[in-house]
Amino acid sequence: MLTIKDLYVSYGGIKALRGIDIEVPDGKIVTLIGANGAGKSTLLRTITGLVKAESGSINFDGKELVSLPINKICSEGIALCPEGRRVFTDLSVQENLRVGAYLRKDKAEIQKDMERVYELFPRLKERSWQYAGTLSGGEQQMLAVGRALMSKPKIIMLDEPSLGLAPLVVQQIFEIIREINRQGVTVLLIEQNANMALKVADIAYVIETGAIVLKGSGKELLENDTVKEAYLGKKK
Ligand code: ATP
Repeated sequence: MLTIKDLYVSYGGIKALRGIDIEVPDGKIVTLIGANGAGKSTLLRTITGLVKAESGSINFDGKELVSLPINKICSEGIALCPEGRRVFTDLSVQENLRVGAYLRKDKAEIQKDMERVYELFPRLKERSWQYAGTLSGGEQQMLAVGRALMSKPKIIMLDEPSLGLAPLVVQQIFEIIREINRQGVTVLLIEQNANMALKVADIAYVIETGAIVLKGSGKELLENDTVKEAYLGKKK
């Protein structure tokens, strides 16, 4: 279980997160939706230790993460799949996946997980020797998710996996998110695509200018008038 309490983060004088409380129970899909600049990426960067918290607590399975170094946080079983995919373009698909397992020593298990990723993304298997830079946007997104899975995480955090992808590819990505979750990985999903995110989410939060303004089940927020108007483009 990931529990975030009263989290504050600033960049210089700018307050990016203001007293965030979020719970991500084991085995669930939790989504955080919000507009550009609301603080979504900052939250994920703070959980992984890339950005330092000013105050507050980030507790994962009973361990406080706020003061841990980045490599320790990864080895706790938390994987981040960053916005914009960020695959290593000059490495092959296979090499990118191996990079995801760099903290692991269990060679036989790594090979099995590679096969599991290829089962999840047959397209990547067909292209295992191809340079990642020559993949389509959707394939790169799949690779970024696959690479994050190679660290064998308990929880995977996805930062806008649908960004810039065609609707059909977006649908595939969301189906895979469901499948990953069915296989036992907890998911924290950050999205601007509120419609898709709320449909898959067990629990959903809305973030506005660094603060949580709404919480409910995905279904509840899909039916919420404010969410409909501000995030789903529907009139009240
Ligand atoms: P987007 O979807 O556009 O990435 P977001 O919800 O992820 O938006 P963040 O990237 O977390 O938002 O940004 C939150 C606020 O913090 C914004 O006002 C942004 O300008 C500011 N910010 C983000 N990164 C930095 C940084 N490195 N230095 C200074 N300010 C930053």
